[in-house]
Amino acid sequence: MKPKAIFFDIDNTLYDTAKFAERARRNAINAMREAGLKASEEEAYKALLKVIAKRTSNYDKHFDEMVRNLGQKPDPHIIAAGIGAYHNTKSSILPFPEVKSAILELRDSGYKLYVASEGDSLKQWDKLIRLGLDHLFHDVFVTEDVGRKKSKDFYAAITRKLKLDPKKCIMVGDSEEKDSTPAGEAGMRTVLVTHDGKGRGNADFVIRDLSELKKTLVKLE
Ligand SMILES: [Mg+2]
Repeated sequence: MKPKAIFFDIDNTLYDTAKFAERARRNAINAMREAGLKASEEEAYKALLKVIAKRTSNYDKHFDEMVRNLGQKPDPHIIAAGIGAYHNTKSSILPFPEVKSAILELRDSGYKLYVASEGDSLKQWDKLIRLGLDHLFHDVFVTEDVGRKKSKDFYAAITRKLKLDPKKCIMVGDSEEKDSTPAGEAGMRTVLVTHDGKGRGNADFVIRDLSELKKTLVKLE
């Protein structure tokens, strides 16, 4: 059965989330050190990761708490330096190198392309815009709109909304838990993107990166 629509996850599928997050955090710390924070980069980085683990990444006082945990007062000069450097780095995220050409090729081949992402709508749109990918998709679905976590119901709601047979839809993502498992439960075909060639889980296909997607789709036709 020829697939009609392809759905993409964003984080770690379209861009290297971990790499850019670490870069933004380290740049923030170094700007804070320049503004007077007394700690080594490694010391501060460890302290920041602890705060994030405790408060999740959607908390907006990370830097204040990190500075306090390092035994200092959250001086606004230091905090503002961190926030500025963090956002400057965040605005320079790039897709994995193969992503743009792979997406354009699939569009040219007649597939409808969508994003199926978990999180906050504004944040996910912001990422797509910064990645330069926002105009390439026919539509974008974020869990916030349809029930927060990526679940079987989230994927089922999308295919219903688009009036598509789930069997003709492909979900492409890096996570078994968020992408291949719930999308598979909703009747979609699934492709797991591993980057390192490890893991398979219950996905129908496994690829290293999006440059391998087109030839994988041919096997489904
Ligand atoms: Mg992901």
